[in-house]
Amino acid sequence: MAKDSLPATIAIDGPAASGKSMLGQALAERLGYAFLDTGRMYRAFTLAAILRQVPPTDSKACAELAAAGRLRVVPGADSRVFLDNVDVTDLLREPAVEANVSAYSAIPAVREAMVALQRQLAASGKAILAGRDIGTVVLPDAPVKLYLDASPEARARRRSTQAAQGETEARRDISGRDRIDSTRPASPLAIAPGAIVIDTTGMTPDEVIAAAMEQIRCAAG
Ligand code: C5P
Repeated sequence: MAKDSLPATIAIDGPAASGKSMLGQALAERLGYAFLDTGRMYRAFTLAAILRQVPPTDSKACAELAAAGRLRVVPGADSRVFLDNVDVTDLLREPAVEANVSAYSAIPAVREAMVALQRQLAASGKAILAGRDIGTVVLPDAPVKLYLDASPEARARRRSTQAAQGETEARRDISGRDRIDSTRPASPLAIAPGAIVIDTTGMTPDEVIAAAMEQIRCAAG
């Protein structure tokens, strides 16, 4: 595939543990894109709010915190996230973040601040963004939109392996977040118009990458 025929942006959406980061990283490495895992931005905001004892019910204080510009993301195979110039990437899977991220992510002003940053990063070059609202809201004109899904069992199994967490616990966390993420009024998780759905249940990572490459090849003409 000729590099200059590659799409400018690729949007990857889907529920928790559907394989978005694995796919985004793999495509970025193969095709030379920047990769941005937007979930990390919402997780970093959640960490900042918890550390400052700002609850998700105080949307005014959350809006101020989001607008304060304390967050910086460096897109890459392993998008690193900085809060006040401190790399907090390794704290983003802490149980307190996991338990509260969907509540903070439902606040419209928090989303506006994150989306502005995401669009800025996407505009700076060839970019793959993964999240919940990339194809619907952040980059509705992305030439390639992928929506990954998998059965709740398959996703809980994957997450429990990655996070050294019991499968029952992983399934409870994932389904709790999915419920909030897909029913919130602000930018709910949804399949974007024109998105290709890939059900990754029972697929190996290589098979998922091959299915996505096929779509990118089609878009590249
Ligand atoms: O992708 P990940 O599971 O790390 O995302 C953590 C949480 O961040 C999601 O459950 C969701 O609440 C929020 N999120 C979002 N919009 C995005 C990416 C993540 O609301 N684009």
